[in-house]
Amino acid sequence: MKTILITGGAGFIGSHLGERLLQEGNKIICVDNFLSSSRENVSDLLVNPNFKLIEHDIIEPLFIDEKIDEIYNLACPASPIHYQKNAIRTIKANTIGVINMLGLARHHGAKILQASTSEVYGDPIVHPQTEEYRGNVNPDGPRACYDEGKRCAETLFFDYWRTHNLKIKIVRIFNTYGSKMAKDDGRVVSNFILQALENKDITMYGDGSQTRSFCYVDDLVEGLIKMMNTNDKITGPINLGNPGEFTILELAKKVLELTGSKSKIIFEDLPVDDPKQRKPDISKAKKILNWEPKINFQDGLIETINYFKSII
Ligand code: UDP
Repeated sequence: MKTILITGGAGFIGSHLGERLLQEGNKIICVDNFLSSSRENVSDLLVNPNFKLIEHDIIEPLFIDEKIDEIYNLACPASPIHYQKNAIRTIKANTIGVINMLGLARHHGAKILQASTSEVYGDPIVHPQTEEYRGNVNPDGPRACYDEGKRCAETLFFDYWRTHNLKIKIVRIFNTYGSKMAKDDGRVVSNFILQALENKDITMYGDGSQTRSFCYVDDLVEGLIKMMNTNDKITGPINLGNPGEFTILELAKKVLELTGSKSKIIFEDLPVDDPKQRKPDISKAKKILNWEPKINFQDGLIETINYFKSII
């Protein structure tokens, strides 16, 4: 039995990860400040004696007495509306918070995995994005708190690895969707599904020709665990995402079809610095982790639609 600390453990991805690691017989310490997550996400897990919840913001130092084997650092708002509303806290989480978690890992001799992001590629010119691509990020724009924050987090991880020989793992997570996304998450999959189910207008930003590649959360969680379990020589970064690429207009049509909704699509302004295209090259994940997504988009969307039907 390992003791595993998950920051952002009550968030969308963190709560799925905690559930899976508990099922595998581990002890979970979930750390969360509930900025963009919820107690609801972990209410089922709290009854398990191997699950402990600590309400804490990682931008403050964290001291844990019991020996920790692994840390998954997932704490950070991930939806553009949330991180832009909390820009300075987002940068702090990715710098001061990351330094605190690296220090904790060092103290415990624990392995630490950083949830980095496809946003480190910014508005990418290289397509699909390989890990070697250094990105096209605007350091001064409204997305920078997240993009540059996550880039700095990667830098910190590698500096702790070079300086202290820390066991680090970095994954770059592409758009992920599934159950336990918050109703007010604000990202495209949950927005469109909720709008369709409630017969409200579908808010298309721009003309809908921009693309994204969507990975179902169970596939992503599998990839995170496989990365953590690699030998100590493997640091990453490794892309984790589903290479199936869709335009946002295609997504809207698919959601309307699967929900049988009568909602109209309305067109609004494209947000500043919104990436025009995004698709992971997952050759490394396939080769090093023996991982690739298994759940196709339609099946994942149906699961997610059923989830939102159950909570509205
Ligand atoms: N988007 C949209 N309508 C919405 C929410 C998002 O058209 O209600 C678009 C957004 O402009 C972007 C894409 O969908 O081009 C994905 O946005 P999301 O916020 O889900 O994540 P991102 O990949 O931009 O971080």
